[in-house]
Amino acid sequence: MAQTLEQALALAAQASEQGADLVEFRMDLFVRDPAAAAELVQRCPLPCIVTVRRKAEGGHFEGPDEDRVALLEAACSGPTQPAYLDFELASYQNHALRQRIDRLVDHPGQVRATGVKLVLSSHDFQSRPADLHQRIEAMAAAPACAVVKIAWMAADLNDNLHAFDLVAQQGKPAVALCMGEAGLPSRILSRKFNAPFTFVTLDDAAATAPGQPTLSQVRNLYRWDQITPATRLYAVIGHPVGHSMSPAIHNAGFDALGYDGLYLPMSITPTYEAFASIVGAWLDHPRLQFRGASVTIPHKENLLRFVRERGGEIEQLADRIGAANTLTVGEDGSLYASNSDYGAALDAVCDGLGIERREIEGLRVAVIGAGGAARAIVAGFAHYGATVVIYNRTLDKAQLLVEHFKSSPGKVVAMPLDKLCDSCCQVYINCTPLGMYPKVDDTPILPGPGQTQPHWEPGTVVFDTIYNPVYTRLLREARAAGCVTIPGSEMFVRQAATQFRLWTQAQAPMDVFRHVLAQRLGAR
Ligand code: NAP
Repeated sequence: MAQTLEQALALAAQASEQGADLVEFRMDLFVRDPAAAAELVQRCPLPCIVTVRRKAEGGHFEGPDEDRVALLEAACSGPTQPAYLDFELASYQNHALRQRIDRLVDHPGQVRATGVKLVLSSHDFQSRPADLHQRIEAMAAAPACAVVKIAWMAADLNDNLHAFDLVAQQGKPAVALCMGEAGLPSRILSRKFNAPFTFVTLDDAAATAPGQPTLSQVRNLYRWDQITPATRLYAVIGHPVGHSMSPAIHNAGFDALGYDGLYLPMSITPTYEAFASIVGAWLDHPRLQFRGASVTIPHKENLLRFVRERGGEIEQLADRIGAANTLTVGEDGSLYASNSDYGAALDAVCDGLGIERREIEGLRVAVIGAGGAARAIVAGFAHYGATVVIYNRTLDKAQLLVEHFKSSPGKVVAMPLDKLCDSCCQVYINCTPLGMYPKVDDTPILPGPGQTQPHWEPGTVVFDTIYNPVYTRLLREARAAGCVTIPGSEMFVRQAATQFRLWTQAQAPMDVFRHVLAQRLGAR
């Protein structure tokens, strides 16, 4: 999409430099006459698709169809021809237009020398069309049709499964795209089902359809060129998941190990029914090879229920915590739900203290907060025999955790948050959002009366689960006082590494994980 011919050619050059194989010119927006259409194709730096999209299918062309076809004829008239010409099925069904289009493109009955291939397309910007299959059959049956293209607005993630089946089942190359945020998988995973190409944009602002990813995302983040029919699928499931850093980390890990996997974001409406319907359908799809997921808020409890209902296995401590963040699917379809958060926190602290997990017994650990993160961390430390003191603003919530974990090997007690200044623990773990971006001047541990800095015993381990910013005010002040400090990014990277190991049976490339996370956080 461009405003002028020169701008379109400049964007095509940019796309070529960034590794695009083809460029689609949406001539309906900027080509006013046949001479410009011909010039555009002659000067294009890479093979192109020419399209004059009519208004009824999301385009800008409002004139008669005869004029649209005249622009396409001009685009195909020079010594360099477009690789593809896109024309809508609805218009192609008009006999006179069909004859003119067939004259331009390669097909079994063609007598002229032409290398132009026909993409027959059909779009619905509202929903999945009721006559989807009829439309596809009509397109595939046209002898001149080289590529079937269908696009519709996705209602939810399960629309993608229809798209994959359509791509896989055609006798002809097919591109089936779901529009909107829920449609992202169809734009990337279609490669697994042999889609000949996908549509991307140079930057978010230039998208020609809702939900279109950028060239850089498809090439570098999702590694389109490495996707094969055998690629295993992984995902981060949550709501929302748009800003999750897990796709960047796991895809970079797969790349570093040469593992044939792809990791996508999947946003699922926050109900158990939506979770079960989508995860169930994706697991049951015969060729998808959905092999695992990172599951985040608000679906951690739903994962446990789902795996239990499907007769899968649940890690004992995840069951105890009441939340799982990792789904692992065996090659035989068996399900395993586990929690990689508590182990990541335990190991980060053990490394900080230079001890093994079994030496946690007897350690005095202060956990600040009593929400979801605190729950997993309390469970982990109490399981290994530490004395855990939960400091929380709402004492009742801390007491509920005490009640829940009272039969653990370690002792668990609850204290009001304002008693934190009297605490004498060896480890402090912040599980509140105090200090998180953008409120970076907040901290859960304030200086006592008459002090400018909180008092810390040197050598105390201070761990902040927040990872944006990496070094919170709490950690900066603790480090200045000689404490051992651990940022939340360590927990994030370690919990991801546990998932990676479960899925690939290989050690995660921690340096790659840390590097990608630092890059992403630096960019915020
Ligand atoms: P949550 O379930 O909402 O719990 C938040 C806790 O913080 C509650 O106990 C709440 O106290 C307390 N809190 C909130 N605002 C407060 C305030 N202004 N003053 C005092 N206490 C306050 O959240 P969560 O899921 O546990 O997440 C907590 C933190 O953990 C987040 O910052 C998140 O970034 C971090 N986290 C990090 C990782 C990682 O991999 N690094 C993983 C998970 C979570 P009340 O009970 O009184 O409401």
